[in-house]
Amino acid sequence: MGRRTKIIATIGPSSSDPTVLRRMIDAGMDVARIGLAHGSLSEAIERYRMVRQVAAEAGRVVGTLIDLPGPKVRLGQFENDGVDLVAGSTIALRPGDGVSTASVLSVDYGNLLGDIHPGDVLQIGDGAVRMQVVSVDGDSAKAEITYGGRVRGRPGLHIPSERLQLATPTAEDLYKLDAFVDEGVDMVAVSFVRSAHDIRRIGTEPFPRGPLVVAKIETRAAVENLEGIIEVSGAVMVARGDLGMEMGIEDLPHIQKRIIRECIAFGRPVITATQMLESMTVAPAPTRAEVSDVANAIFDGSSAVMLSGETAAGVDPVNAVATMARVSERADTEFDYAGWAQRVRTIRAGANADGASQITDAMTGAAWRAATEMGAAAIIGISDTGFTVRSIARFRPIMPILGFSPHERTVRQLTLSWGTTPLAAPPANDSLSLMDSLVVAAREQGYVRSGDLVAVLAGASSGRGNSTDLLRLVRVP
Ligand code: PEP
Repeated sequence: MGRRTKIIATIGPSSSDPTVLRRMIDAGMDVARIGLAHGSLSEAIERYRMVRQVAAEAGRVVGTLIDLPGPKVRLGQFENDGVDLVAGSTIALRPGDGVSTASVLSVDYGNLLGDIHPGDVLQIGDGAVRMQVVSVDGDSAKAEITYGGRVRGRPGLHIPSERLQLATPTAEDLYKLDAFVDEGVDMVAVSFVRSAHDIRRIGTEPFPRGPLVVAKIETRAAVENLEGIIEVSGAVMVARGDLGMEMGIEDLPHIQKRIIRECIAFGRPVITATQMLESMTVAPAPTRAEVSDVANAIFDGSSAVMLSGETAAGVDPVNAVATMARVSERADTEFDYAGWAQRVRTIRAGANADGASQITDAMTGAAWRAATEMGAAAIIGISDTGFTVRSIARFRPIMPILGFSPHERTVRQLTLSWGTTPLAAPPANDSLSLMDSLVVAAREQGYVRSGDLVAVLAGASSGRGNSTDLLRLVRVP
């Protein structure tokens, strides 16, 4: 059946090379993620252009996703090989741009002393080093190290998000986003979202003219406001790195399942991210636990799984993608396809839907049922915005989904949609004749054969909003 779950790989120093990128595409990278938290804007744009060029030369559809850093607080640089922060010792925190030492941590956030309170737990980097605030006075705070460890470079300082008065997206995020909108980027991930309002502040044109907006769920407030955020977002990321610091780590698997479940209800692609094959940053093979984590994220209903440090800074990014592809493909063959559609119907029954969504629900459900009962060879989804294709993908049909759009950007956005082969369609006014011509195009491109039965779904996107209102069962000529 081939792999159905999509793979996102983060591009960084280890993978910013045309030969490596080409091999990552061949190994199964569907979407290239470019993080904007490190390095300059021009370096990031150069990476983006390199991905575009390599994908074009390879003749492959590869989506691009930029990840806005949001209000990330960082410590001042630790010199040389860093310092050991020892459990039980007391350290000072001071707002400013100075260097950090073993006794004073410089914090690049001017309002630090206004936001933190005695008793707050602060975490450095991925949370391995922790401290508890003991006191706050006029020019510094004191904290006791509760978990010690070595800290290097300019690590992030995690302050509980309900304390931080910084808003997302930041002015710098919006400035960087503008540059990438000019470049034609396909998707943009927004960090530290707390409410639907944060997503609205991104302010780009709705897709397909603007990028698909991906809400990263990594704050306590985002978990509380989940439905509203999903409703206004194009897709969602379970950003387990920061989420694991905001919430109890033991809550994480359950929150992951809940986020995925809500995304299925709304027909939004959902990405499970962070530390999926973490040990492959330095090792040639993942741990057993990591392999199980990837498979379980797929069984939960993830549309895509993401590699971060493994491909950005790891020893062998191509091997990390190839391993992810193998593990995903195997999990896809074990997926409970029959039970899934029933689950989707149950999940949808509890969701609030407007008129257009109800039509899409009914039509995509009917398409899934008809295609399954008739043993269709493929489901062809035709869509301006990708909405129809994303809506059918949530049913996880056993047969391939061919996602056609006349818009280049929509086609690249469909790289994120589970089980979907993104394909370009010619512009057309007449839906019925477009349906016929795309059935022929699917045959000519080798996706279906003459005599096969296919289900064809088309969406109307007009001032009335998006809905999927045409379904045909067609014998391929
Ligand atoms: C995360 O926190 O899990 C995440 C994906 O965000 P970032 O890698 O930007 O910290």
